[in-house]
Amino acid sequence: MHGNIWRDRCTRCGASETRDVAEPVDDGPVYCRSCGAMARPDVVWFGEMLPGDALETAQNALERAAAVIVVGTSNRVYPAAALVDAAVDSSRPVIEINPDITPVSDAVDIRIASAASEALPAMLTSLDAISANG
Ligand SMILES: [Zn+2]
Repeated sequence: MHGNIWRDRCTRCGASETRDVAEPVDDGPVYCRSCGAMARPDVVWFGEMLPGDALETAQNALERAAAVIVVGTSNRVYPAAALVDAAVDSSRPVIEINPDITPVSDAVDIRIASAASEALPAMLTSLDAISANG
């Protein structure tokens, strides 16, 4: 919903380019390969609007989801927090991964009080084990 930190977007023409994660990052400015203007990370900063269809895309994904995993968000900033509220109000299982208590912590089905960097790899390992045995 909030963009991709590995993608640059031109401040003039809007062209975007995804960087290779393994590519070393220079501390200097990044310039558009199309028009030469300065590029910026293609993410939403505080005070900026979400990209045009980001909220609708997220709402559609939520409606199709069998379960919802909410990772590393305070659940306090709207409109994104409304998606979590809708998930909690639905019949879908909701899992929250966050070391901190959020406004929905008491309402989710499973709360994992852990950092995403610890919980997500552990979940993948568990899912791999289930797949291997199933
Ligand atoms: Zn450009």
